[in-house]
Amino acid sequence: SDDGRVSSKVKSPWYSASPYSSSVPTVKLFIDGKFVESKSDKWIDIHNPATNEVIGRVPQATKAEMDAAIVSCKRAFPAWADTSVLSRQQVLLRYQQLIKENLKEIAKLITLEQGKTLADAEGDVFRGLRKLGAPYGTFGKEQRKMGGKDPRMGEVVEHACSVTSLMMGETMPSITKDMDLYSYRLPLGVCAGIAPFNFPAMIPLWMFPMAMVCGNTFLMKPSERVPGATILLAKLLQDSGAPDGTLNIIHGQHEAVNFICDHPDIKAISFVGSNQAGEYIFERGSRHGKRVQANMGAKNHGVVMPDANKENTLNQLVGAAFGAAGQRCMALSTAILVGEARKWLPELVERAKNLRVNAGDQPGADLGPLITPQAKERVCDLIDSGTKEGASILLDGRKIKVKGYENGNFVGPTIISNVKPNMTCYKEEIFGPVLVVLETETLDEAIQIVNNNPYGNGTAIFTTNGATARKYAHLVDVGQVGVNVPIPVPLPMFSFTGSRSSFRGDTNFYGKQGIQFYTQLKTITSQWKEEDATFSSPAVV
Ligand code: NAD
Repeated sequence: SDDGRVSSKVKSPWYSASPYSSSVPTVKLFIDGKFVESKSDKWIDIHNPATNEVIGRVPQATKAEMDAAIVSCKRAFPAWADTSVLSRQQVLLRYQQLIKENLKEIAKLITLEQGKTLADAEGDVFRGLRKLGAPYGTFGKEQRKMGGKDPRMGEVVEHACSVTSLMMGETMPSITKDMDLYSYRLPLGVCAGIAPFNFPAMIPLWMFPMAMVCGNTFLMKPSERVPGATILLAKLLQDSGAPDGTLNIIHGQHEAVNFICDHPDIKAISFVGSNQAGEYIFERGSRHGKRVQANMGAKNHGVVMPDANKENTLNQLVGAAFGAAGQRCMALSTAILVGEARKWLPELVERAKNLRVNAGDQPGADLGPLITPQAKERVCDLIDSGTKEGASILLDGRKIKVKGYENGNFVGPTIISNVKPNMTCYKEEIFGPVLVVLETETLDEAIQIVNNNPYGNGTAIFTTNGATARKYAHLVDVGQVGVNVPIPVPLPMFSFTGSRSSFRGDTNFYGKQGIQFYTQLKTITSQWKEEDATFSSPAVV
């Protein structure tokens, strides 16, 4: 509608009237270049998290449909792998442009299915981040002023357009007389992706563009909770000139996941999601001889030194803990206040109180609902566990009511203090707008706590002392470290380098590592002796 509000009645090309219901639209499969209605008898309802109304249904693809998708990927592979790298690059160049032109439409769909604010949804499309550092810190007034826009738009599709440099092999001439050694980077074949609900656009875009620009074809299984954005992204890819069969999309849950893990024609699997699913997919996919990269859960700590810039630090903590309702794998969900920094706690609470909780499509909303009623219940249970185990609830978002959205899965910003490492609310990834706060006397104690936690996705230190920052970055055993930057997700020319329990596999997502994951090397040793040639050109005098 004109006021920018997302109507739950929105009818989009990727939904169609369903034979199974007269009122609820269905999400299509994308097989061999066609958006097709599934013949499945198993469907999953998709809810608007702000209202819990059913807005659509997604099929659990049948075995025949999944087989058809693989046949299509396999058939398209030889010609696509043989298409010149410049032509593949051209498809991606058109694609990044079309994504920008359709940003608003994709963002509205994400808000409808996932619940996040429209500003966050636009960030999801561009990268899942608005801008490193400041905008998360300037959560609230300044972020609203920016309209959530990221002026840099630095994201993975644009990076995939650098394939002409990234895919270069290596050469070593004259290793012995008349002999040269060189290597090519070649695609693997059919690759597959399994995505989570929290970044419906960004995470599929970490996967198929990188794989396809290298010459692979791709089978994508989006999260069954938020399948719409992937279908729209597939339509835009088709409009960019990607040939039929280069991308296929199936929907479903366990059966689709098992199909991907077991199918002999799939050479590599990219997974992002929870540890429970990730460990399972890593083991099952690896057992079938596939490459698997699995980005998983997190518990990210922000260490606050007493010499930090207080204003910036508190703003950044609030933005990074509660933004996107805490449903980010890089949410800064644990604060460690060192020494005198503990005195800043009341101010932290005041700032968190000012955040506006509302449906994601409402103007001024800072955070939206959680994905499901079950997710809300789980988050509330974890907050309860804090009280039972002796922590203090300084700000309690459990009872929040959002006017006009009484059935939504809302939890307001919550701050739990006096938390100890043995408490459940510290050990579990909460994945909601909850900040748990620990206190230590020294930086060394803080480092020990972070390094004893099994996860290694991200961490940040807030300080004005370079030596302190350097010591932390050097000693902390976490794969992505921010220095006065709360959510240190690397730009796509680097790679996403979560570590320890946050990652399984040995080659990371995007950047040079992403190209490595989706390619294999062929190394050629060649000898051309002049005396063997049947025709030699006359010597030039
Ligand atoms: P999830 O694991 O429930 O779902 C992810 C995918 O796996 C979905 O496509 C789902 O259909 C499938 N799946 C779910 N359970 C399964 C099972 N038991 N067996 C096989 N397949 C299964 O994750 P989610 O709730 O959608 O996403 C939230 C999680 O993802 C959080 O833990 C978050 O930290 C993590 N995450 C990590 C990153 C990262 O880069 N490290 C990024 C985003 C999200």
